[in-house]
Amino acid sequence: MDEELALFRDSASRFVESEMVPQDPTWRQQHSVGREIWRKAGEMGLLCLDLPAEFGCGGGDFRHEVVFYEELARRGISGFGQGVHSMCAHYVFNYGTDEQKRRWLPRLAKGELIGAIAMTEPGAGSDLQGVRTRAVLEGDHYRINGSKIFITNGGQASCLMLVTRTNPEERKRGLSLLMVETTDLLGYRVGRVLDKMGMVAQDTAELFFEDVRVPVDCRLGAEEGLGMYQLMDDLPYERLVIALCGVAAMEGAVAETSKYVKERKAFGQAIGNMQTVRHKLAEIATVTRVARVFVDDCIGKLLAGKLDTETASMAKYWVTDMQQQVIDECVQLHGGYGYMNEYLVCRMFADSRVQRIYGGTNEIMKELISRSV
Ligand SMILES: Cc1cc2nc3c(=O)[nH]c(=O)nc-3n(C[C@H](O)[C@H](O)[C@H](O)COP(=O)(O)OP(=O)(O)OC[C@H]3O[C@@H](n4cnc5c(N)ncnc54)[C@H](O)[C@@H]3O)c2cc1C
Repeated sequence: MDEELALFRDSASRFVESEMVPQDPTWRQQHSVGREIWRKAGEMGLLCLDLPAEFGCGGGDFRHEVVFYEELARRGISGFGQGVHSMCAHYVFNYGTDEQKRRWLPRLAKGELIGAIAMTEPGAGSDLQGVRTRAVLEGDHYRINGSKIFITNGGQASCLMLVTRTNPEERKRGLSLLMVETTDLLGYRVGRVLDKMGMVAQDTAELFFEDVRVPVDCRLGAEEGLGMYQLMDDLPYERLVIALCGVAAMEGAVAETSKYVKERKAFGQAIGNMQTVRHKLAEIATVTRVARVFVDDCIGKLLAGKLDTETASMAKYWVTDMQQQVIDECVQLHGGYGYMNEYLVCRMFADSRVQRIYGGTNEIMKELISRSV
């Protein structure tokens, strides 16, 4: 942190408090945050913060993104899929031509386009090389057929980073990434917005492609077959984003719980005076601090261009496991109120479960870590 970042945190925090927190109950009921909030966040300069200003983006670095993620996560605002939006922009920035960057980045940064990452399919989750959504080159267009599932921001997304199979003969070298603008796109259809355990303000959806045609210059990369390599390069960034949202949620839940136990009375005193309650708080505060130190170290490594896959996988797996344990204790310390959706820790508990599943399951993280041990 420095002075400029502290000022930025103030304005990001004010934005989340005034524009998002009051809307969250409505978003949870309608299973979507709507489009307007994306435009507002764009106008406030809160999107694509760590990409260069010459492409209409924030011109900051990863710390600016971190600040905004933290302000969202510690308040349990899980419907606004800023993570996948940023990742979508990152794919354009990392693998796009100058023309492609100018085509998509300014509109992603303004919130005119809503980004999504469309990898998972009904038959290909952990085993991403099993992707079957087919893109066939026909002259100057790709014709796309297939479907995706569990796509964050899927209901509203207007700009997809779509993982396709361009060569059915090859597994790893058979994938290519296409940027697909979906507005009025013939043959493209959003299926169900999925009925989930948590993150209910998020319009996670199924997507269908039936003879969808996109120009060949939507492909990221000079040739076909680079998709898997491009995905692997970007994964440490994505995993760290999941971990840092996890630690921010833990911090938010512990702060909320500490306040609650000081106010809640039983047997003639605040429950926070009881030794077992104080010890429980001490334990979860300690785990949260350890997670914070680890995640901060990873943030430093990412800024220095030194965050390796194993370390990012360790952060993703361990922090999200701890997130669930810590928030479970916070629910317990709230008693029956902890089971009520109007309480922050209740919503955070339900929202946290998926952190161990998406972005590569925690079992897959252990596979990756074990290769280096
Ligand atoms: C709310 C939500 C949002 C999501 N958002 C997105 C998104 O925006 N974009 C996107 O593309 N995807 C998204 N996903 C999909 C997510 O990334 C996948 O669900 C995840 O990668 C797991 O894939 P799967 O569901 O097919 O499970 P499977 O791969 O079928 O795994 C089932 C179980 O088997 C275990 N397993 C599988 N392989 C191994 C192995 N080699 N060793 C040990 N255990 C193994 C897994 O760990 C898991 O426990 C989202 C999912 C959810 C629930």
